[in-house]
Amino acid sequence: MQLPVYLDYAATTPVDPLVAEAMARCLTLEGQFGNPASRSHLYGWQAEELVENARRDVAELINCDPREIVWTSGATEADNLAIKGVAGFHANKGRHIISSRVEHKAVLDSCHYLEQKGFEVTYLKPEADGSIDPARVEEAIRGDTILVSLMHVNNETGSINDLAAIGAITRAHNVLFHVDAAQGAGKVPIDLMQLPVDLMSLSAHKVYGPKGVGALFVRRDPRVELAAQIHGGGHERGMRSGTLPTHQLVGMGQAFRLARAQMPDELLRLRDLRQQLLTGLDGVPGWQLHGQADNGVPGIVNLGFAGVDGESLLLALRQIAVSSGSACMSATLEPSYVLKAMGVEEDMAQSALRVSFGRFSTPQDIDTALDCLVRTLAQLRQPARAHA
Ligand SMILES: *Cc1c(COP(=O)(O)O)cnc(C)c1O
Repeated sequence: MQLPVYLDYAATTPVDPLVAEAMARCLTLEGQFGNPASRSHLYGWQAEELVENARRDVAELINCDPREIVWTSGATEADNLAIKGVAGFHANKGRHIISSRVEHKAVLDSCHYLEQKGFEVTYLKPEADGSIDPARVEEAIRGDTILVSLMHVNNETGSINDLAAIGAITRAHNVLFHVDAAQGAGKVPIDLMQLPVDLMSLSAHKVYGPKGVGALFVRRDPRVELAAQIHGGGHERGMRSGTLPTHQLVGMGQAFRLARAQMPDELLRLRDLRQQLLTGLDGVPGWQLHGQADNGVPGIVNLGFAGVDGESLLLALRQIAVSSGSACMSATLEPSYVLKAMGVEEDMAQSALRVSFGRFSTPQDIDTALDCLVRTLAQLRQPARAHA
């Protein structure tokens, strides 16, 4: 059986073979399996060295100090630590948080949790292109605002927020700025020596690293203080306890190092693939691009199709593995809350399709997708004639 072409890189990416190799060397007796916290023997020292090398590789991709990297189990945990950690530490200063309606569930659910604990959250509405207007952030800031949490790149639409402009506003108002960069790191340049960002969540598996590992950047100057969310052993300067998983961290380090080396070439290649996909849809009537036409990340393309049932479309596209723009809620296909917040019309949101590609995608993959898509759309729109 022919496997469907994988075009769901925004959900997760395959691990790069170089990353898998490096990880495999950290597991068995012959390898660096030691506990990085073991201080009394070579096994521990060697594991610790690998962990610190990985920390440097992660820091280099986003241009920060390695001491500002706190390892976590992924971006979900990093989001939880940033948001609940700031809220826990700064509750005396204020209890108002600003986020947006298009954030990942890891951010939204952390905010909802805090609302139950007596915090107030303002969820900003995005512009039609999915980005947050920095002016909306400034309007929402109050005397008791302690945190602004906004994503770098949206996982459904690829829309990019202007971190420099938003950070300038939060700095001016002495409010902390957390950024979920799970979809940004490794795809577009990030320079934390320049960007006024205080906390940044990272994930390995969106950038050809393993699932189950990530990090939170916590700025040292000006120093950001957090309440720990996981206690026991005092690892990671007390901010996140737990034995460090050497193989996972080595995988993330290697993945981030590769991303840094390949980013310029990869950006150009992905731009070409995006162009190929959009040009291929030229003759197809009634479709719409959800997101930023020219300024988003090239590897995420969110499309809506007029007059087509989203569920039937996804079911018919068996040769390609893509994501519906919708979150599957029980039996009914609920339109995506991200597209809804952007003001996308109900039927367009309902038929949305997220095509996302990356390092191992080829022009042939895009051709297969186009072929499949054009044929399926024609069938769904004219069922009688298609079967004649
Ligand atoms: C994938 C993703 C997350 C969650 O990351 P995990 O490492 O899977 O926990 C958070 N935010 C965004 C924007 C993502 O795309």
